[in-house]
Amino acid sequence: MAATGIVTRFAPSPTGYLHLGHAYSALAGWRAARAAGGRFLLRIEDIDRTRCRPEFTEAILEDLAWLGLDWDGPVRIQSRHFAEYRATLGALEARGLLYPCFCTRAEIAAAGAPQGPEGPVYPGTCRHLGDAARAARIAAGAPYALRLDMAAALAAAPGPLSFAEQGRGRLACDPARFGDVVLARKDTPASYHLCVTHDDAFQGVTLVIRGEDLLAATDIHRLVQALMGWPEPAYAHHRLLTDPTGRRLAKRDGAQPLRALRAAGLSPAEVLAMV
Ligand code: GLU
Repeated sequence: MAATGIVTRFAPSPTGYLHLGHAYSALAGWRAARAAGGRFLLRIEDIDRTRCRPEFTEAILEDLAWLGLDWDGPVRIQSRHFAEYRATLGALEARGLLYPCFCTRAEIAAAGAPQGPEGPVYPGTCRHLGDAARAARIAAGAPYALRLDMAAALAAAPGPLSFAEQGRGRLACDPARFGDVVLARKDTPASYHLCVTHDDAFQGVTLVIRGEDLLAATDIHRLVQALMGWPEPAYAHHRLLTDPTGRRLAKRDGAQPLRALRAAGLSPAEVLAMV
């Protein structure tokens, strides 16, 4: 089949072994690319150095190869690209769209913040700090995150924002419900929202296939793309696989890793048939 411009990707976080839910997601991206003669990329989202482990990265590559899901080009390992994420943060900072936030989780919880799609909506405490107070805290070595000033960002982004969701037409975005999201964490000089949008743009991803648990987050991703002038990919959020009791498969609940199925004697074809 002639090569097309379609680029999909599988972007797991190496915090555990892949399970059937990952196989489903990877297979969906791989098939969409291969069916169209496009490209399928593999990206390891390992910016969280406390939860990610190199042995899980190795296991991901091995499990995908065992399944026969081959990827194009080199694997992108996010933890090797902090300088690029820093440059994006710098560009947003220069436009006055970020501010340092010194609050702890406990302080935010104590402020009685309403719940947003990703937890408490930040009450904006540090947005109101004066320049001198900010400088003093930074000089004193207080750890801080960088938050997006949502109101300023919405004013700066050419709106209204929406995205094309496969099978559902265009969905309108409402990033304001997230409040001032964190784009660089205290413990990691970047965040998922920043890195995922940076890399999808940098790698030329045209179709983002991922679980429906990330549907809401797409509103933030579209905002960052609009602010940075990055191209807009299409999206396809798939259902999440569940266990026989209807609970979503998750590493933390001990969903059977692919390698356990493999050790039990299942073939790659049998595992792929299960998803
Ligand atoms: N790294 C994310 C995860 O493992 C997926 C990111 C994405 O596909 O946008 O949940």
